[in-house]
Amino acid sequence: MTQKTEGGDVRLAGISKTYGAFTAVHPLDLTVPQGSFFALLGASGCGKTTTLRMIAGLEDPSTGTVSLGSTDVTHLPPYKRPVNTVFQSYALFPHLDISENVAFGLRRRGIKSVQKQVDEMLELVQLGQFAHRKPHQLSGGQQQRVAVARALINHPQVLLLDEPLGALDLKLRRQMQLELKRIQTEVGITFVHVTHDQEEAMTMADQVAVMNGGRVEQLGAPADLYENPRTTFVANFLGTSNLIQAEIAATASDVTTVTCGDVKLKLPAGRCRAQTSPGDRILIGVRPEKVSIAHADDDATVPDSRNRLTGRIVASSFIGVSTQFIVDSPSCADFEVYVQNVERDARLTPGTEVVLHWNPEHTFGLDADQAID
Ligand code: ATP
Repeated sequence: MTQKTEGGDVRLAGISKTYGAFTAVHPLDLTVPQGSFFALLGASGCGKTTTLRMIAGLEDPSTGTVSLGSTDVTHLPPYKRPVNTVFQSYALFPHLDISENVAFGLRRRGIKSVQKQVDEMLELVQLGQFAHRKPHQLSGGQQQRVAVARALINHPQVLLLDEPLGALDLKLRRQMQLELKRIQTEVGITFVHVTHDQEEAMTMADQVAVMNGGRVEQLGAPADLYENPRTTFVANFLGTSNLIQAEIAATASDVTTVTCGDVKLKLPAGRCRAQTSPGDRILIGVRPEKVSIAHADDDATVPDSRNRLTGRIVASSFIGVSTQFIVDSPSCADFEVYVQNVERDARLTPGTEVVLHWNPEHTFGLDADQAID
C-alpha cells in the first residue's frame, strides 16, 4: 500500500495540563509536520503521554488548542478525530482471529466488504500468512504489528504510538523499530511516537522533542540534537557527553579558546551556546566516538589542528564493534574522559599513557550555570 493520506500538520498551541496544583505539561507550542515520524522523548513522568493523550482527545488540555491541518479539534471527542492510538498493551480481541481484529474498525463503521483492505493491511505489516490465527498464537512483535494494522485500517491522519515496543525484548524491539519506520514511510501518515528510549527515538524519528519536567527542552532532527545539544540535560539524555568545566581564555571571530587545568581547547564559532567573554566559565563537551586515542609514543603524529589531552587509561572494555576506554587526565583537572574507538591497538591497556585528540568542530560549548549530571 503506497497511499498518501490527506491532512495537515498537527499543531499544539499553548497547550498545558494541570492536575490540581501540579502541572504535568507547561504551556507548549509544537508543530508536527504532516507525514513525519515524530518522537516525544523523555524520562518517566516528563509529560510525554499526557501530551499524546491531548492530541488523541483522551485528555482535555487545561489551556491551548490542538489543530489538525486547518481544523481545531480541541473540543472533539476522540472518536471524531482522524487519529488513532496504538498502546503498549496491544489490546487485541483474544476471541477474534487476526483478520477480524484488523477488520474491526471497518465493521464498526458498518462497512461489509472488508477483505481487500484487511489483506492489504496484513500485507503491509507482513502477516498475511497468519490471518486466521488467534492473537495468543503470535509472538509479541507480531501482535504489535496486528495492533498497528488495526489502527491504520481506517486511514487516520495521525497515528499515535504510546511506548508501543515497551513490552518487547531488546532484539525484537530493535527489529520492530525498523519495521515501524518502514510502515510509516510506506503509508506516509504522521506518526507521533512516545518513548523513554533515546536510541529508539533516534533510530526512528525525523524529529525528536526532548521533554523534561513538562517542557520541551529541545526539538530537532536526531543528529542535530546529538551533535548540538543546547542543555546538559539533552547532552546527557542522548548518550555520553564528556562535559568538562572550563574557562574562556580568548575569543576571536572564528574560534574561542578555553582552558581546563593546563589544557587549551579550541571551540569553533557556532559551536558555543554560552557567553564567550574571557574569564567566563563554560562547559565543554565531546562525544566519546569523536575522540581518537593514541599511545603516548605516537604523540608527534597528532596534528596541531586537533584538540588534545594527555592521560592514562584507567579502564577498557571490548564491546565487539568498538572498544570503550576511560582515561584520566591529570593535566585537565583529573577529568575522566570516555572514549569509544573502532580502531584496535594492542598497546592500549589499562595504565598506558595516551593522547586523546579530536576535531575541534566536534566540541560543543554550553552555559556553565547548569547541573552537569
Ligand atoms: P511515563 O513514561 O512513566 O508514562 P510520561 O512522561 O508519559 O511518563 P505522564 O504520564 O504524561 O508522563 O505524566 C506526567 C506527570 O503527570 C506525572 O508526574 C504523572 O504522575 C502526572 N499525572 C498524569 N496523569 C495524572 C492524573 N490523572 N492525575 C494526577 N497526576 C497525573
